[in-house]
Amino acid sequence: MAKFSFADADADEDPPPAAAGSDKRKRDGSPAPDDGAAGGGPPPKARRLEVAGGEREERAVAGCGREVGRVGAGGDGNAMGISMRIDPDLLDCSICFEPLCPPLYQCQNGHVACLSCWSMLSNKCHVCSHDAIFARNIALEKIVESIKSSCAYAKWGCCELVSYTQRNTHEESCFFAPLMCPIPGCGYRGFTGRWSGHFLVDHHSADFLHFVYGQSFEVNLEASLPFLVLLGEDDHLFLLLNKNMTPFGHAFSVVCLRTGDLNWKFSYEIEAASTRNPENCMQLKASVTNAKEWEGLHPTESFLLVPYDFCSSTNITLSVSVGRSASV
Ligand SMILES: [Zn+2]
Ligand SMILES: [Zn+2]
Ligand SMILES: [Zn+2]
Ligand SMILES: [Zn+2]
Repeated sequence: MAKFSFADADADEDPPPAAAGSDKRKRDGSPAPDDGAAGGGPPPKARRLEVAGGEREERAVAGCGREVGRVGAGGDGNAMGISMRIDPDLLDCSICFEPLCPPLYQCQNGHVACLSCWSMLSNKCHVCSHDAIFARNIALEKIVESIKSSCAYAKWGCCELVSYTQRNTHEESCFFAPLMCPIPGCGYRGFTGRWSGHFLVDHHSADFLHFVYGQSFEVNLEASLPFLVLLGEDDHLFLLLNKNMTPFGHAFSVVCLRTGDLNWKFSYEIEAASTRNPENCMQLKASVTNAKEWEGLHPTESFLLVPYDFCSSTNITLSVSVGRSASV
C-alpha cells in the first residue's frame, strides 16, 4: 500500500523568532482564537503530500482544481517516493473540522462525515438535507490512515512523522510546541530553549534570574510572590514556585516549562537558613518536573516546606542550584 506523508510547503524557510498561532483550520477562514500571538502566522494551508511506493510518473491534482503536485523522485532523496501538495481542509470533516478519522460514513451522494458527526445526523445528510442511507467509505478510510504528516513544529526541531489523524494529539504535547510566558499579562508564546531574548527585551530584569547549571545562586524572593522565573544558561525556563501553605509555611519547588524530557533531565537543590539562627538550615534535593504552562498553581511531589517562623515575613532568601544531565 502506498504511504503518504505531509510536510509544510514552506519548510525551507527560517523559523520565526517566536511561536506561530494555532494550526486549527476552519473552512470559513476565520483565525484560530490564539492567532495573532507573538510570532508568525499559522502554517500555510497547502502542504506537500509525500507518497512512498509510487513506481511510475504521474501527476496529481487536488484542492480547488489546482494542479498541486509533482510525481517522480522525491526531493527527500527517496527515489521511490512521490510528493504532491494538497489543501489539508480536504482531510478534515466538513462538519466538525477535525481531521477525518475512521470509521467514515458517506451518503448516497458521497458526502462524508466522521463517526461522531454521523451519529448526530439522524440519517439526514448535512449537505443533501434529505433522508440518506449512510455507508462506510472504506477507500477514504484507507487513504487517511496511510497519511503521515510532519509536525507543525518541524521547523523548530520536531522530526516526528505522525499519523494525520493523530496530528492534533501529537502537537498538543509536542516538545517543540510554543508555551505561554508565565509572567501575568504578557501573552507571549515562546519555545523551549529560546526564552532569554524575550525576557531581556520585554521584561524587567527583576522579573527573572539567569543561572549556570551546577552553580548555586542566591534568590531573594518577595514572600507574597507565587514564583520567580529562572533562566538556564541554555535558555530553558524554570519557575521557582512559592506556595503559601497556610498555616504551615512556604512550600518551595522548581518546575521546568516544557512538554517533555528531550535531551536533558534536570534536578535542583534548595536551601533555606533560619533568619534567627543561620546555622539552622533546611534542604531539599529533588528532580525537576515539567509544567506545560503556569496556571496559578502547580502541585509537585517534592517541595521544601519552610515554616513561617523560620524566615522573614516579607522577603525570603534561598540558596538554589539546578543540575542538568543528559536524558537516556
Ligand atoms: Zn466530524
Ligand atoms: Zn449527501
Ligand atoms: Zn512535534
Ligand atoms: Zn513574557
